[in-house]
Amino acid sequence: MQTDWNQIAERIQSADAVLIGASNGLSITEGLHLFADNAAFENLFGDFKRRYGIRCLLHGMGARWPSEEEKWAFWSRAIQHYCLEYQPTQVMEDLKAIVGDKDYFIVTSNGECHFEACGFAPEKIYEIEGTWLNMQYVRPCHEILYPVSDAVRKMAAAEQNGRVPSELVPRCPRCGGPMAVHIAAGNGFLEDTAAQERYSAFLERYHGKHLVVLELGIGWRNQLIKAPLMRLVAREPHAVYVTVNLGEVYITEDIQDKSFGIDGPLSDVLASLRKACGR
Ligand SMILES: [Zn+2]
Repeated sequence: MQTDWNQIAERIQSADAVLIGASNGLSITEGLHLFADNAAFENLFGDFKRRYGIRCLLHGMGARWPSEEEKWAFWSRAIQHYCLEYQPTQVMEDLKAIVGDKDYFIVTSNGECHFEACGFAPEKIYEIEGTWLNMQYVRPCHEILYPVSDAVRKMAAAEQNGRVPSELVPRCPRCGGPMAVHIAAGNGFLEDTAAQERYSAFLERYHGKHLVVLELGIGWRNQLIKAPLMRLVAREPHAVYVTVNLGEVYITEDIQDKSFGIDGPLSDVLASLRKACGR
């Protein structure tokens, strides 16, 4: 089916706001593949692969490490590389241009903080499964998220042979217990309730208005972001749904007439859409 870029661009340009949903597909487009044992993973974590049998980033993120020193060696290296040294990519630049000066909100399960690094406003982002730049207590003894960047810089610089020095390992200031990167893994994950409230306020503000839901790289069975976004489009009379995915375009029956499905690589699709938007 031929994609009508102009028609989609028109909907975006006449929208009151854009709600962006994003997941793995966008990260992969940017070169961060959580599930792949690829060259990038070999370059960054070849030693961890051979020492611990870690098969991919996701595997390392959920691994049971023999020590805090090794756990933080893995994490500080990953965060240093994928967050702190990250440079905005073309696909993000295109997305920013498409949104233009419209109000927007971003809901994502991607935790690597790339939206923020690309200049999207932190208060307009809800990282539903946490972020790599925050940490919490493994067993939360108090419900506060702490920034991890400074600790990561020190640990990554001091790491040797897959271990960080013990004195740099983050500890809970109240009970001395271990800390964990703020990702939704297991019990005790602290929900970002402030971001949830900002998201609700956004939905409230644009209730009944012309909202474009732009969904990027979310698997067709995703229940965390995709299913709720499709339900939102179904109940909002003036909402439009634009879903982009490679080989997995799925739109529920009830919103077919107000939806656009685009099958293709995000980098190509967003470049074409940006062009159609004339930006
Ligand atoms: Zn504690």
